[in-house]
Amino acid sequence: MIPFTYARAANTADAVVHGSAVGTKYIGGGTNLVDLMREGIEHPQALVDVSGLSRDINETADGGLLIGAGVKNTALAEHRLVRTRFPVLSRAIVAGASGQIRNMATVGGNLLQRTRCTYFYDDTGARCNKREPGQGCDAVDGFNRIHAILGASPACVATHPSDMCVALAALDAVVHLEGAGGKRTLPFNELHRLPEGRPDIETLLEPGELITAVELPAQPMAAHSTYRKVRDRASYAFALVSVAAALEVDGGMIRDVRLALGGVAHKPWRAWKAEEVLRGQPASQQLFQAAAEAELANATPLRDNGFKIELAKRTIIAVLGDLSGVSA
Ligand SMILES: Cc1cc2nc3c(=O)[nH]c(=O)nc-3n(C[C@H](O)[C@H](O)[C@H](O)COP(=O)(O)OP(=O)(O)OC[C@H]3O[C@@H](n4cnc5c(N)ncnc54)[C@H](O)[C@@H]3O)c2cc1C
Ligand code: SF4
Repeated sequence: MIPFTYARAANTADAVVHGSAVGTKYIGGGTNLVDLMREGIEHPQALVDVSGLSRDINETADGGLLIGAGVKNTALAEHRLVRTRFPVLSRAIVAGASGQIRNMATVGGNLLQRTRCTYFYDDTGARCNKREPGQGCDAVDGFNRIHAILGASPACVATHPSDMCVALAALDAVVHLEGAGGKRTLPFNELHRLPEGRPDIETLLEPGELITAVELPAQPMAAHSTYRKVRDRASYAFALVSVAAALEVDGGMIRDVRLALGGVAHKPWRAWKAEEVLRGQPASQQLFQAAAEAELANATPLRDNGFKIELAKRTIIAVLGDLSGVSA
């Protein structure tokens, strides 16, 4: 047992003051952090509980939503405006974890949950650069069926585990932050890093910076959106591959599209290349295939996960077919 202190933040300013101290971590629902502490992967000296802060979902002036970081995953998925304006987000959330975990988990914690790489969790001898920089990575030549096919590096081939984050990547969300240096915002697609040589640095957050909210800009197209998750079991399993998509089709032409992939990279993967192929073109199965091929052109399989490349392509094509009504 490693001792640590626990304090409940009274407000955001109080959280930031205490959260900036060395060795301190914020805790939301604790559904990931407490597991990591039990496993000896994380050992904070102090926890600042922020689960009671920022628990509102408010409509913004332009018809978007400002979602407090303390909003529980269940409350977000169930919210009427989320279900009607951003169904991809509701679907992504309920595709994750279990009802009990979603009742505890917060938006802020979901964004910063850590990888499910089995070697990362195994501190009994497995080498892991994310746990201990410079140690090496046993997944690269090990059992790597669940690992990354895009954007990986020789230092780390882990994937980001969140379903919610895949939807947020597609929706051009904006993250609101507050830290010792004041308030700022960050495009969601810039929050998480690719591993490069430092997989232990997972985001562009400054030390002690608190996520206070996530903003969804108004996007009429998002009302026509969906999420599909492919996994080993029908529930309670992380994505092998997932696709979040929103589509605007007019007279058979794709006017606009947002596409993101999960289970394939160290961060939620925005499918910019596929979007470029699709935008302004007549919807067809051939076009969907070309978009999927373009996105996966640089995919690199490891020993056990080559199947993910074809799986990702087929899932993209299926989701675009569903949303456009153009099937094979
Ligand atoms: C059995 C199991 C199955 C699961 N299956 C899935 C799944 O299929 N899909 C999926 O997406 N997820 C899944 N999860 C993960 C789950 O979604 C996360 O554990 C949860 O979202 C984390 O939220 P939390 O509030 O509990 O975070 P915590 O555990 O409290 O915190 C996680 C991290 O976020 C940091 N943090 C928390 N709040 C803030 C804040 N406001 N600002 C800055 N930092 C903050 C903490 O310091 C910590 O580093 C599963 C979890 C379990 C245990
Ligand atoms: S893939 Fe990343 S998280 Fe997994 S063992 Fe390698 S360095 Fe660690």
